[in-house]
Amino acid sequence: MFLRKKDNAEELVRTAGLISQSNHLVALTGAGCSTESGIPDFRSPGGLWKKYDPAVYADYSYFLKDPSRFWEMSVELLPLLENALPNAAHLALAKLEKGNILKTIITQNIDDLHQKAGSSKVIELHGSYRAAACLTCERDVSLDEMKRLLNKPYPECPYCRGTLKPKVILFGEALDPDILRQATIEAGKADLLLIIGTGLEIYPASFVPSVTKQHGGKLILINNERVSRPHKADIFLQGKAAEILPEILSLVNHR
Ligand code: NAD
Repeated sequence: MFLRKKDNAEELVRTAGLISQSNHLVALTGAGCSTESGIPDFRSPGGLWKKYDPAVYADYSYFLKDPSRFWEMSVELLPLLENALPNAAHLALAKLEKGNILKTIITQNIDDLHQKAGSSKVIELHGSYRAAACLTCERDVSLDEMKRLLNKPYPECPYCRGTLKPKVILFGEALDPDILRQATIEAGKADLLLIIGTGLEIYPASFVPSVTKQHGGKLILINNERVSRPHKADIFLQGKAAEILPEILSLVNHR
């Protein structure tokens, strides 16, 4: 059932009740969870795609042909990601994990902010910006090393001069099957899934709510606007994640 923003008070109480009673609470987070940490999302006005066409800057086959565009965007993004701090949404989720209420976060984000907030059970569907690997010799290169090598159109592997690619999933690139398996298991175990700040438009992340629903779990959608694929959410809370999650946290019965 979809409710308007003015109805949030009642829905917040209902959400907190469901969380308090849940046995296996899981969160699925997207770029909207981090916008209030200063990292733009892809689709909102002012989002990254307005400046960088994804078909050029974040597409895997394009990257293989010409990695320099991707790295051009990364030069702007890296300091933003490195300096970003977790916001109240990340912190509320970390507290729910500490209270043994939230079992896992499945995130589409690559920004490390859940871990910076103190969450430890984080499944990173799309990888993390913090490391890169060589496409030729497959050796890992740390973030510091990668930054040191960024003085060319794109950084070359310090071992074999192959192309370095951050360990993030680009459009058209397959997800790590083991990560996908872990996410599917967690989504299936979830009796309640909090879906936070995602447009649910990117497959296979968008399948996660369907898995929970198929196993009889409930869905709570938190987004500042209506999403086009709501997956039959049981509750929709419209507003900013960094405002709504602390409110929910304050209403949850801590065990
Ligand atoms: P998206 O841009 O498609 O959707 C973001 C959603 O969050 C939108 O529906 C928007 O209305 C909502 N939103 C924005 N700010 C919000 C807020 N403060 N509170 C609540 N909702 C808010 O992002 P996506 O669905 O995550 O998919 C885009 C892909 O790009 C994913 O792989 C994502 O991880 C990646 N990405 C990651 C980052 C990051 O790591 N921070 C940033 C940009 C994109």
